[in-house]
Amino acid sequence: MSTEATPQRYHIWTIGCQMNKADSERLESALIQLGLQPAETAKDADVIVLNSCVVRQAAEDKVVGMLTSLKPLKGKNPQRIVALMGCMVGPKTDALQERFPYVDVFMRPQEYKPLLSLLGDRLGVDAEGCLSTLTPPNAGVTAYIPIIHGCDKFCTFCIIPYRRGREVSRPIADIVRESELLAARGVREVTLLGQNVDSYGHDLQGEPDLADLLEAVHGVKGLERIRFLTSHPNDMSQRIIDAVADLPKVCEHFNLPFQAGDDDVLQVMRRGYTNDDYRRLVERIRRRVPRVSLSTDIIVGFPGETEAAFQQTLDLVRDIQFDKVHVAAYSTRPGTIASRRMADDVPHEEKKRRQAEVEALQEGILTRRNARLLGKTVEVLVEEMQTSRSLALVGAEVTLTPPQGRGKGIQWKGRNRNDKLVFFEDKRNFLGHTVQVRIEKTSPWSLQGMAAE
Ligand code: SF4
Repeated sequence: MSTEATPQRYHIWTIGCQMNKADSERLESALIQLGLQPAETAKDADVIVLNSCVVRQAAEDKVVGMLTSLKPLKGKNPQRIVALMGCMVGPKTDALQERFPYVDVFMRPQEYKPLLSLLGDRLGVDAEGCLSTLTPPNAGVTAYIPIIHGCDKFCTFCIIPYRRGREVSRPIADIVRESELLAARGVREVTLLGQNVDSYGHDLQGEPDLADLLEAVHGVKGLERIRFLTSHPNDMSQRIIDAVADLPKVCEHFNLPFQAGDDDVLQVMRRGYTNDDYRRLVERIRRRVPRVSLSTDIIVGFPGETEAAFQQTLDLVRDIQFDKVHVAAYSTRPGTIASRRMADDVPHEEKKRRQAEVEALQEGILTRRNARLLGKTVEVLVEEMQTSRSLALVGAEVTLTPPQGRGKGIQWKGRNRNDKLVFFEDKRNFLGHTVQVRIEKTSPWSLQGMAAE
């Protein structure tokens, strides 16, 4: 670490969802504009930022562990700045200040100003200008663009509305400008992000919606693909579905959490739709966008979820045939409506059993769904060069066999339009290119193939 009192190097540690990652990238952009350099580890940095998540207990425990490990570092050098950012920071910080007195700055999600002002004072510069255009500093082939912050839904299990606040949409012109800057730096795919992107624009003048935004971003030269997440089933309008169907750059993929299959559980979760509503929405999407892929989020073991109620969740997974399912065992989050009013009455082992049952069912579904792609050619946007021949994937270890002929080259990783991971080997440099790949091997988690000539 540098010994000078002026901060020179920063380290940002991030946990949680893509919104947090996008926030960290924007903060990093501002720190670089202030002249700071990245440091590999916290102990090498003059400014340490922890971007926190409290959606699950395990995430919060990790943040607390990291914060505790920073105490001796701060003790060794009181000039070092420690900042806590993200969902762990609510409107009031008294309790956090008491628990972690060595933290210099507490910042709510997207609240970069307190740290930048402190740094501006230390560096003797006006940090205000760094806040105007924050784009990721190391943009690769793909990038996230936050389009709406906060959430107005107040699902009973969720802490997000209390921590990220009410919905605030960014103007279309800002998002288009950011997309243009990213495209000019080589980004080929943007993902428009929000806790609930389907409600985008209701707070803006003229009330544009996500369909309007998709159309505007679609006009950005150089961009090849547009994605968006996360959607709420209640706010998924026909206009958004039509935009996905009609705009060639918008990928045919919806992330549509259903959370539970049982109507009573959905009601106590305050999700605002029924099992039947969800099924009809999926039918409507599949009719209009026939090649669509769907992913979802599920919570098992919510208070009051009986075995019969859980079976409704399994039935929905079986019937819809999703392309990705993220399943979590319910855990009480202090501050939520569920934590105040509902008993966490499903035993831990039972929650884990239900989680494993959904995962096993989904693995079988994906094995069959992906096998249908054998021998087919898919369009892949190449995002990364793989350095290892053995690729650790979500829950599975896949060893690639080099293909004959053009093979024995570089391993490339990308995604098809349906958001499926695709790996292939080729000597040519395909980074950032869209390549037709013939699928030769499938697993539940990824596809492998060979670039078509
Ligand atoms: S829609 Fe519900 S689960 Fe999603 S962020 Fe809002 S309150 Fe949380």
